[in-house]
Amino acid sequence: MSISALPKTYYFPFMCDHALILAAAFRAEGQPAVMLPPSTDETLALGLAQCGGRECAPCVLISGDLVCLTRQPDFDPARAVLFMVTSSGSCRFGQYVTLLRYTLDRLGLQEMEITGPTVNDAYQGLGKNPLRMRRLIWEGAVAVDLLQKLLHRYRPYEREPGAADAIYQHCLEEVVAATEAGGGRALVTVMEQAARAFEELPAERRQRRPLIGIVGEIYLRHNRYGNLDLVRRVEALGGEVDLAPIIEWLYYANWRYDDTCRVRGQPLARARMALVDRYQRLLERRLARPVAHLLDHPYETPVARLMRYVEPYYSTDLGNECLLSMGKTVELARHGVCGVINVMPFSCMPGIITAAIAPRLRLDLDQLPWLDIAFDAQGGTNLTTRLEAFMYQAAEFQARRGA
Ligand code: SF4
Repeated sequence: MSISALPKTYYFPFMCDHALILAAAFRAEGQPAVMLPPSTDETLALGLAQCGGRECAPCVLISGDLVCLTRQPDFDPARAVLFMVTSSGSCRFGQYVTLLRYTLDRLGLQEMEITGPTVNDAYQGLGKNPLRMRRLIWEGAVAVDLLQKLLHRYRPYEREPGAADAIYQHCLEEVVAATEAGGGRALVTVMEQAARAFEELPAERRQRRPLIGIVGEIYLRHNRYGNLDLVRRVEALGGEVDLAPIIEWLYYANWRYDDTCRVRGQPLARARMALVDRYQRLLERRLARPVAHLLDHPYETPVARLMRYVEPYYSTDLGNECLLSMGKTVELARHGVCGVINVMPFSCMPGIITAAIAPRLRLDLDQLPWLDIAFDAQGGTNLTTRLEAFMYQAAEFQARRGA
């Protein structure tokens, strides 16, 4: 076979551990797929050099990761495809692909392709066998979300530092391998193993720590380099974290697509979407069942309910990621969190809307402690001090609630 007849290699930016699932699902379909390494100070500098200063932080990080890839000695642009999800939504996310294309062209790498699904049709049409691909990605994403919930539930109480991380890392590798092997029952087995391992983890849990919800922009919320390892910082200051999961966004994409079809008068498309959503929920339940007894809230709340929480404060017709942040905040408050952190890249439009509505939300939520953190890739000036003050308020809130 000539080199030009070989399939191209897909490269995936390392947003978070869920990205490993994307690459695994592509490999399961026989497609060469490689994860880019996590961002570093060096790749950030490369990204900043490509940007003009007004781009969102995730775009800067991805640009840097991409440029770093193109500098590898064995890199062949003619055989490389960057996988990049896109949208035509109400913020700058839809422009990432345009900027990345511009960057590649400017570097003389016109041959490298950029491809990816769009949120506008709820990520349909992925790969040669879209239904199988979507199932693999969905199952893997659910499994990683559940592993992270377990990690965040157990790590703050572990007796031996590093023990919870070791279980998580091992199970994550098993989830990736199971996805590459076709998902299904093999993933349920991994979840059963995870349940046993976390259950047996020696832990000190006499007193529950203040539970801190983390909502906000999806990339930075989950990207440990970009958010300066926020979850661990909260844990180091005495908190336990409830991080809004990735699948929340995928359910939201379904809901948004259904709403668009309703407006356009497309009942058949709506019926199809309803079936997909129901199937995804079935798969979620199947994977969550083995670990459900270890988590306070193992199953995702339906997006329609989150949107009902939002309606008194903001029109859901104006839809973007801020709807999820607001709806999740109300839900987290109902679940008993003692504070909420809103993660936003510097100048993030949905993040700013959430920050603006937060005082009204808090008014109805017993003045729940709240912290907006805008990450600007400048090293988080004053972050520790602000987090310390916030955690103090959260502990006070917990004491007041307890009283
Ligand atoms: S959600 Fe915020 S950070 Fe992400 S693209 Fe939109 S404006 Fe930028």
